[in-house]
Amino acid sequence: MTRARCRKGFDTLADSLLTNEHFFGAFDHFSVGLAIVSPDGRWLRVNPAFCAMLGYSEDELRQMTFVDVSHPDDVGVSITRDCELLGGDKVSYQLRKRYLRKDGGVVWALVNASLVRGADGRPSHFVAQILDVTAQHRAEEALRESEERYRELFESASDMIQVTDATGRFLLVNRAWRDKLGYSPEEISRLRLPDVLHPEHRDRCMQAWERLLANDPCGTIETPFVARDGRTIVTEGKVSCSRPDASTAIVRGIFRDITERRLFEELLDEYRRDLEETNRKLAEANARLELLATTDPLTGLNNRLVFQHRLEDEFQRTCRYGVPLSLALLDVDRFKSFNDTYGHPAGDAVLVEVGRLLRQTARITDLVARFGGEEFAILLPNTPIEGAIQLGERFRRVIETATWRHRPVTISVGLAAATPEMKESEALVSAADAALYRAKQLGRNRVDWAGGDELSDTVLMLRSTQS
Ligand code: GH3
Ligand code: MG
Ligand code: MG
Repeated sequence: MTRARCRKGFDTLADSLLTNEHFFGAFDHFSVGLAIVSPDGRWLRVNPAFCAMLGYSEDELRQMTFVDVSHPDDVGVSITRDCELLGGDKVSYQLRKRYLRKDGGVVWALVNASLVRGADGRPSHFVAQILDVTAQHRAEEALRESEERYRELFESASDMIQVTDATGRFLLVNRAWRDKLGYSPEEISRLRLPDVLHPEHRDRCMQAWERLLANDPCGTIETPFVARDGRTIVTEGKVSCSRPDASTAIVRGIFRDITERRLFEELLDEYRRDLEETNRKLAEANARLELLATTDPLTGLNNRLVFQHRLEDEFQRTCRYGVPLSLALLDVDRFKSFNDTYGHPAGDAVLVEVGRLLRQTARITDLVARFGGEEFAILLPNTPIEGAIQLGERFRRVIETATWRHRPVTISVGLAAATPEMKESEALVSAADAALYRAKQLGRNRVDWAGGDELSDTVLMLRSTQS
């Protein structure tokens, strides 16, 4: 039905109604907007509340149709609804629509309209109740926007978020949850929480879940999930219960995928273990190397290199602090003939045994070294020549009195003590060597020493017993 046809013959009836002052007394005092509208859309009467809503006077509105003050986007639906009334399909309708105020502002209104017909059944006029719902509309809009923002945040979060009921049924899961675990929404609706937990950790996680329902927060919990394709997704997350009442509880969980981090940590752990093992082997190799570098392979004594370093250190200490330092050089007597007679291996055995006896006899602070060939050196720190002579004699006797397999073995000992005249450690070695030479010259199996003239009576006595 067209608007033109609807309008035909209506005006007379409307006019008579509009002159009913008894009715309009009450009409004007309504706090909601009220309007009488002709079937063709002209405002016939409007109450002050409606005028205030749109900012027009009643006279101004009466020059206009409802189309003039309706938001262009809502005109179509208004006309459609009016036509439904005019056509008799309905007797009233409710419509939320926008009006344009005189000042250009938009008013959201809830319109309840009905059509009044004359005695002959012809449409007379519309009666419309117009409620300003702008504030309500804005509040709804704000709520919808905030819900959208929340949903967007929920959906786009990179962490897996799930909301479950007390039975572990999934009420809501976000995109990250779906993407990482690979279940379709249809499958999710049939799943329960234990179904997606890794079997090895299911009991532990479900126990934490039970405790949570009993109002015992579980803090951060490591939760390994099983994806649809069987992959394990290791997560770390927090689970909270919104209503700590076991049957109606809603449980929210937010989980961060730490699978890669865990793999990386495991890799790092492996790497660290490898490194520790390598370091251990390296330390062993270094220790072996140091042993090789510092030890004489035949006798196991310190080698000449160690002797030289230690001699240097002790000699410097002596020069600086004046502490006594003596050196003994020891040489196996007639060793060439021993080798010639009993063979080199037997000679080696003698050298090993001589070394062992010297080490056994020396004090803990003395340094026993193989000086080379069948010669040994013993550095005697904090020892003046008198003490060195006694020690030298002890070394000599220990060798002489030991039991030897082939024939008796003896050594000659040359001793020297560091003196202020010695500028270098080499001088000490030379002095001891000269004393050793003398001991050989005087018949071997003897102890001799440098600087005999200034020695005490005890030492001189010792020398006389040897001659
Ligand atoms: P002296 O009493 O004058 O010291 O006479 P000697 O024969 O001991 O001295 P010489 O310098 O003539 O000979 C030293 C011998 O020591 C010669 C060498 O074969 C032997 N010798 C040196 N080093 C070793 C070794 O490692 N093993 C063995 N078995 N013999 C060695
Ligand atoms: Mg020699
Ligand atoms: Mg010799």
